[in-house]
Amino acid sequence: MHLDRITTRTLLDALPGVAYVVDLEGRILACGQGPWREFAEANGAPALADPRVVTGRTLTEFIEGEAAREADACIRRSLLLSRRDRVAYDFRCDSPDRIRRMRMHIRLLRDGGEPQAFLYQSLLLSERQRPALPLFAPRLPGLLDEESPIVTACSYCKRLRHPSMLQVWLTPEEYAGNGGRNDARVSHGICGDCYARVNAEFFGEPERS
Ligand SMILES: [Zn+2]
Repeated sequence: MHLDRITTRTLLDALPGVAYVVDLEGRILACGQGPWREFAEANGAPALADPRVVTGRTLTEFIEGEAAREADACIRRSLLLSRRDRVAYDFRCDSPDRIRRMRMHIRLLRDGGEPQAFLYQSLLLSERQRPALPLFAPRLPGLLDEESPIVTACSYCKRLRHPSMLQVWLTPEEYAGNGGRNDARVSHGICGDCYARVNAEFFGEPERS
């Protein structure tokens, strides 16, 4: 087989984790099939399991929370403007009954020194079962009472800020153990710890290739 017969999709399918290529404007150009399907189904979004549905859409459509969308755009801008070509950060991507610790790698792909696209790759670091937390189950809009309290979830570590304890970020398990309501409405933000951690990662010392 000649190397030029290996397509981008073949390569993405062969990479561990969920891998996808995003153009400089933030549109998804290609993604690996197998892991993407598993990932979408595990996260209660089977409609997104087909890479053909995802290809051509903007990455921001799949990022929950304005703060996390801005952080992602900021990472891509900083990679384009700096000598650095990659960043990595840890995050949690839970489903109602599973705790998943993940690591995201984002790499700027260049050709002859010219930026071409970004390679995203998210790897599962660990996964374990927990009693289901209905707060994280996908819900149809309109089913929640407008009187329900609003709980802010950190887009990176998934800790929750309880409305009655505004300064405290609780892990989802602590939230449930402290009588946190399951009918709360969830908005997304970034907690102070993750803001500092992610900021240090993006704007700290350049990582050596
Ligand atoms: Zn956080």
